[in-house]
Amino acid sequence: MGRFGDIVILTGAGISAESGLGTFRDRDGLWTKYDLNEVATPEGFARNPDLVHEFYNARRANCAAAAPNAAHEALARLEAGYQGKVLIVTQNVDDLHERAGSRHVWHMHGQLNRALCAACGHRWDAPDRMRPRDPCPACGTTATRPDVVWFGEMPYLMEAIHQRLQTAGLFVAIGTSGNVYPAADFVRNAAACGAETLEINLEPSAVISDFDTARHGKATDIVPAWVGEILKTT
Ligand code: NAD
Repeated sequence: MGRFGDIVILTGAGISAESGLGTFRDRDGLWTKYDLNEVATPEGFARNPDLVHEFYNARRANCAAAAPNAAHEALARLEAGYQGKVLIVTQNVDDLHERAGSRHVWHMHGQLNRALCAACGHRWDAPDRMRPRDPCPACGTTATRPDVVWFGEMPYLMEAIHQRLQTAGLFVAIGTSGNVYPAADFVRNAAACGAETLEINLEPSAVISDFDTARHGKATDIVPAWVGEILKTT
């Protein structure tokens, strides 16, 4: 078993920023051109499904054109080389962790490359361009939506995530602002069960005081260096 026991890593938009996928706060990012209430809520989808599909179709195209960066690649090396379980719980809807080679990735906010039938709950691989009138391959209803968790909806896999936080020896948050709950609470949940905690982010997050230690700077600098240290000492 590695020195830290099992490791749970929470990632956010910051880990994909250097791959060219904007975070919420990027000045020129896609997010600034759209109103979050219109494109990332069930109410917005009910009002204007075409606009919501346009937004996610653009994000899917951006994601397909992007490549994993050194931080995603380092986490894949960690999983392959560490003598213990490494789980990535990501708030990101991109697939850059998987494309870097990580195998245990849980998408708590869903995935851009999956479609969900709002009528029957069936899921399937998303086409490049999704439209509200696309029929569900299982039930035929035209209630197709991106398989992403919107504001006001329950994130996926919460019970399983909490179980893994309880048994983690080390919890690391990378590239997440600590403003979006319940993910922002994971550090407290893990620490309460005895895990060491580390924040890696460009700047101190909103929940910095809950972490034992922090390293601030670009994910592509800090994550490979940190992974190198872990793999050398375990
Ligand atoms: P956020 O935008 O609120 O915060 C991103 C954090 O990353 C910030 O604190 C910022 O300082 C930090 N950051 C920016 N560039 C960085 C870099 N190069 N290295 C290290 N850190 C860097 O993102 P969040 O906390 O993930 O917010 C959660 C919500 O954002 C989720 O609902 C998620 O679905 C959504 N989101 C996802 C993507 C994606 O899938 N790639 C992109 C934008 C937003």
